[in-house]
Amino acid sequence: MEYQFPKAKEPIPSAGKDDLIAIAGAGGFIAGNLVAYFKGKGFTRIRAIDKKPVSEWYQTVGGVENLCLDLSIEESCRRAVEGATEVYNLAADMGGMGFIETHRVDCLRSILINTHMVEAAWRAGAKRYFYSSSACAYNTDLQKDPRVRALKESDAYPAMAERGYGWEKLVSEMFCQEYWAERGLATFIARFHNVYGPFGTWVGGREKAPAAICRKVQEAIDSKSGAIDIWGDGTQTRSFMYIDDCVQGIDKITHCDALVATPINLGSSELIEINHLVSLAEEIGGVKLKRSYDPSAPKGVAGRNSDNTFIKQVLKWEPSTPFKAGLKKTYDWIATQRAARAAGRRVVD
Ligand code: NAD
Repeated sequence: MEYQFPKAKEPIPSAGKDDLIAIAGAGGFIAGNLVAYFKGKGFTRIRAIDKKPVSEWYQTVGGVENLCLDLSIEESCRRAVEGATEVYNLAADMGGMGFIETHRVDCLRSILINTHMVEAAWRAGAKRYFYSSSACAYNTDLQKDPRVRALKESDAYPAMAERGYGWEKLVSEMFCQEYWAERGLATFIARFHNVYGPFGTWVGGREKAPAAICRKVQEAIDSKSGAIDIWGDGTQTRSFMYIDDCVQGIDKITHCDALVATPINLGSSELIEINHLVSLAEEIGGVKLKRSYDPSAPKGVAGRNSDNTFIKQVLKWEPSTPFKAGLKKTYDWIATQRAARAAGRRVVD
């Protein structure tokens, strides 16, 4: 049973449309989409922050203050959250299995980002603080079978998280919970299960399975190789959440007082086998490819799914974009990125 933190006694203030919202990691996939989402909702003062130079951000949104700051440095965090009513921390050094299994130190070092961000937000008097955790925080012993039992929130303890990345998430969650318990900063924590969609990494080594498979299918079509390589034996299972569901979920979770300091799954509960993912991408591309499997490639846990009982109970909502529909949008977006790159234009990578 996870430790139960005190509930809010008074309603927690939220940002009004003209209050400042600070979003960290905004040069990347999810936070970039979150900036666009809040802008679309009519928020007039958004500060977007990332370590990368603004010219390398996956997307930028007009009328937003864009700052290039390294948030592993305490002083940068103070600057980032100055005057903010709400703070969203999605900055982390991360990627798909190919990255997190080989860059454990980099993943662990993201602890510096949340440690300084949550302290800075508290000092600045922010009213709500969101932290992006991950399903990699769950006990890996429960994920050894592709026909998984979906993971519920209490499955994080006793702890046996994914080495490196998962432990960083678990400890950062604890920081957030204690800032609420001891210092009264209202923190909100979502455990994302694989997120995919437009403006996500699709090439270069940090990309996740849906983007990687879409790209490989398109490369096979273009090169007429008729073949595709797959990491692992293809029987690994995962659930994948479409980006629009993810940003909506972040908003709902951060503005639900009952969820203060309470980690919650934010993921789809549609379990997909990697082999099926390949079949869907082939169907979208209109090809059938010869599959070769690489059992020595990074493949992560055997199976993982999101148990959505809790989110349905508290929010009366869950991510619901069917995987096939989201994959089609992602496939088409990657095709436009590949075409842009071939034409010598700058792309997301
Ligand atoms: P991403 O890599 O696209 O974006 C993260 C951004 O953080 C990058 O733009 C990076 O430059 C920035 N960053 C890294 N170190 C920084 C630093 N020191 N200072 C400032 N910025 C820094 O990743 P994403 O997919 O958008 O993930 C966002 C968050 O969600 C991360 O915390 C990640 O761990 C979590 N998450 C993502 C997924 C997923 O499937 N994408 C799943 C579970 C959890």
